[in-house]
Amino acid sequence: MDDYALVLNAGSSSLKFCVYQRPAAGAWRLAARGQIDGIGTSPRFTAKDGDGRVVADQSLDSTVLDARTALDALAGWLRSQYTSARVVGVGHRVVHGGSRFTGPAVVTPQVLEELRTLVPLAPLHQPHNLAAIEAVAGRLPDVPQVACFDTSFHRGQPAVAEIVPLPAHIRRSGVQRYGFHGLSYEYIASVLPRVAPTIADGRVIVAHLGSGSSLCALKNGKSVDSTFGFTALDGLCMGTRPGAIDPGVILYLFQSLGLSAKEVETILYKQSGLLGISGLSNDMRVLLESREPAARLAVDYFVYRAAKEIGALAAVLGGIDALVFTAGIGENSAEIRRRICEASAWLGIELDTTSNDTGGPRLSLPESRVSAWVILTNEELMIARHTRDLLAKG
Ligand code: ADP
Repeated sequence: MDDYALVLNAGSSSLKFCVYQRPAAGAWRLAARGQIDGIGTSPRFTAKDGDGRVVADQSLDSTVLDARTALDALAGWLRSQYTSARVVGVGHRVVHGGSRFTGPAVVTPQVLEELRTLVPLAPLHQPHNLAAIEAVAGRLPDVPQVACFDTSFHRGQPAVAEIVPLPAHIRRSGVQRYGFHGLSYEYIASVLPRVAPTIADGRVIVAHLGSGSSLCALKNGKSVDSTFGFTALDGLCMGTRPGAIDPGVILYLFQSLGLSAKEVETILYKQSGLLGISGLSNDMRVLLESREPAARLAVDYFVYRAAKEIGALAAVLGGIDALVFTAGIGENSAEIRRRICEASAWLGIELDTTSNDTGGPRLSLPESRVSAWVILTNEELMIARHTRDLLAKG
């Protein structure tokens, strides 16, 4: 009987999954990846096999309206695909591990209780992550589950990188800089010794540029600072989030415009960033193709902000040895990579435009003092590795 392990990434309206399979005498391999989108509105199930062939693309009925019912639908599909399957573990992406979870954790009732106390720190994500864990526990009570946190990789940063300089009684309630995208950065750090051995133990800035964007400063493979802070609103300009803005603007929204907390939250999470500037789209592809001045300004600001924050993290690191691009925009847009590298030329990056146009992995000229790279991220694989390793330890 083959062994299976599941990786789940549960959001407010989607459940992303990967299925890893291990034959009796073999190694783990990706068997399928897919998602249920539109949970609660018009749910749709799509999946590809390990070679990228579409193996499912269908609407689901409207009873799929939360993590539990989405998991029921996924379980039904898994049963139809993999007869004689034995699920040996389920790994979850959990956005917040607070200051205590410095690595992945096997889920126990006590761990779940602690993770619930972090809901106020990530109210838009944590409840969905925990609902998926509870739904799996209800269906497969004997299967171990592992929670892998987006914050863990950043723990161990110097105190000055973590502090939010507010009064102590506020900080005591958990207000500090946590950093996110940690599973992506951990994956990149884990492959540097193989892909780019000369920089693996150096000073590296990783630019995770996707719908959410952030930078991480790595020293010897460890995170020493990042642009995300207390929440995933800080730092770079994103698809619909503004990145760092003067906190006085938020006071103005409440005090002078009289907006409610819910309205401010919607503006900050859903209506700002590339979408807010362009008034057109949050998708970088659409903006790069547009001739509208507002679309150009959005792209200009995205590049400007990324280059500015790269400069800040270069100061944190005392200079850099390499810049690595990853995620949707970083992996796919030669134009954005070129523009950010050109704006960072003062750091010593000399771009090899041919290599940049063909997708790297090395993007800089051999004589470039600071090298530039594109490396595909794989957060699900990082979760699968953590799950395998923790379960192997028993
Ligand atoms: P998520 O945070 O949802 O995982 P991704 O890392 O997949 O996001 O990034 C998604 C974003 O990547 C899209 O919104 C799109 O703007 C951008 N993107 C994907 N392909 C390209 C491309 N060829 N050129 C520019 N941007 C791209």
